[in-house]
Amino acid sequence: MSENNTNINSNKAKFIFITGGVVSSLGKGLASASLASVLQSRGFKVRLRKLDPYLNVDPGTMSPYQHGEVFVTDDGTEADLDLGHYERFSGVPAKRTDSITTGKIYMRVIEKERRGDYLGATIQVIPHVTNEIKDFILSDITDEDFVLCEIGGTVGDIEGQPYLEAIRQVAYDLGRERSMFIHLTLLPYIPTAGELKTKPTQHSVKKLQEYGIQPDMLVCRSQIPLPQNEKKKIALFCNIREENVIAALDVDTIYQVPVAYSHEGIDRQVCKHFGIPCPEEADLSKWENIVKIIRAPEGEVKIAVVGKYTQLLEAYKSINEALTHGGIANKYKVRIKWIDSELLEKNDPDLYLADVSGILVPGGFGQRGTEGKIVAIQYARENNIPFLGICYGMQMAVIETMRNVVGLKNAYTTELSSTCEPVVGLMTEWDKEGAKEHRSKDGDLGGTMRLGAYPSVLDKNSLVYSIYGTENISERHRHRYEVNMKYADQLEKAGMKIVAKSPDGKLPEIVERPDHPWFIGVQFHPELKSKPFAPHPLFVSFVRASIDKSRLI
Ligand code: GLN
Repeated sequence: MSENNTNINSNKAKFIFITGGVVSSLGKGLASASLASVLQSRGFKVRLRKLDPYLNVDPGTMSPYQHGEVFVTDDGTEADLDLGHYERFSGVPAKRTDSITTGKIYMRVIEKERRGDYLGATIQVIPHVTNEIKDFILSDITDEDFVLCEIGGTVGDIEGQPYLEAIRQVAYDLGRERSMFIHLTLLPYIPTAGELKTKPTQHSVKKLQEYGIQPDMLVCRSQIPLPQNEKKKIALFCNIREENVIAALDVDTIYQVPVAYSHEGIDRQVCKHFGIPCPEEADLSKWENIVKIIRAPEGEVKIAVVGKYTQLLEAYKSINEALTHGGIANKYKVRIKWIDSELLEKNDPDLYLADVSGILVPGGFGQRGTEGKIVAIQYARENNIPFLGICYGMQMAVIETMRNVVGLKNAYTTELSSTCEPVVGLMTEWDKEGAKEHRSKDGDLGGTMRLGAYPSVLDKNSLVYSIYGTENISERHRHRYEVNMKYADQLEKAGMKIVAKSPDGKLPEIVERPDHPWFIGVQFHPELKSKPFAPHPLFVSFVRASIDKSRLI
């Protein structure tokens, strides 16, 4: 076992393992994030981690249709979107050490094997793979009271087995007073019987028991309230104390979940499990205030998101949330109109955009739908509609101005064609914390983008400076291409200013159009840092501008 495993014994963190059963997509990430937030409301320090059983090293190379959004941490890890839930609910920035996949685990094991670290042993799932998982769980912990580890997938999945074995062993090593198993299940409602069914939950717990795990708590998702006698039945058959069968009734907004959990007594029961005193007062006022605004907004504003994964909203999870946060800050509901950018290539944009008060073009990769994004940007520019372009959306905004205002018809990005006017080009070298990062066009695709938090310096004479209220910002990046500084003068003459750059002045970070009421393109992903209780200033301002625009109609 590695040093990490021994180090942890001097540490007092308690581990909560969250598994899921019955069906996938039960919202384990949200459940974990909400539990963390409820524990925080009692004054505890928390950390959240995700263990994903798939074989990719990270989700960075997966299609958003497969996996939804790729979340990026400050320290440059491409991770599961659940880390976004974790940050939005707990406010604790996720780190590289908070996300692992089977691909990463195996990569580590194989690297060690090649180095000869195993001293001739036969390498096996147990103990070598499971030890690597245990090391991950126990590593990089400081003064946290609770570390919540969510196991991806559903109990019974072949890929998940080494993880269940690893968490069983961690609980065995640390003792039950430092570990807890929470299992999230579904109680299906059968309308003809008028009942919630407990059998799938019983089976799911049995499956978990086969792996040597006896859950300490069940969180049961259901459409209707869970009757006390059903609770009793679940408790008896699943070998769980009745008060540890927690009903998780469907709620109208995800931000109600921490409040609902607390009402169900989840925090008290967690404390009881660990035998620690639970501070009397849980302060949930920040969630209550947010829910109050969501339920009774002062108005509604319609904003278009023009992208290519609009069929799967998980692909734009953080954008969806950040717009909601911008709405909350303005006491407005943001109604998002998801528009497939390909539709704008074939039809009159008025058909889709005439009724929106703001247009957002999100990040993206590849050819499909790019011309439609450019149509949407031209529409926003010409009709004075507030526009926010994020990453690819910013790059397309620059291309739109170069093509339609400067008249450079071949303006394009080298991501899509090498023979064009390279207004957006491949980044081959940049500064990362004082050192140089290098890339070539033939390099690997996985993990090689400009990733994570980078500083930018804002022009004091700009709209973004007034929005951020500071000259120096740090935002998260995930891109391989960048706007070519060579075109800065032409852009400025065409009404588009580069108003933020990397500290060495080499990389453009933000563009805006001073002649437009609100037209901003950012090379980074502000949506990743927005939280309901700390909305991102760009989203607050963008939603505000959209509200003002709708008032003018
Ligand atoms: N495809 C573009 C790039 O790699 C933009 C990436 C993004 O939008 N996240 O630079």
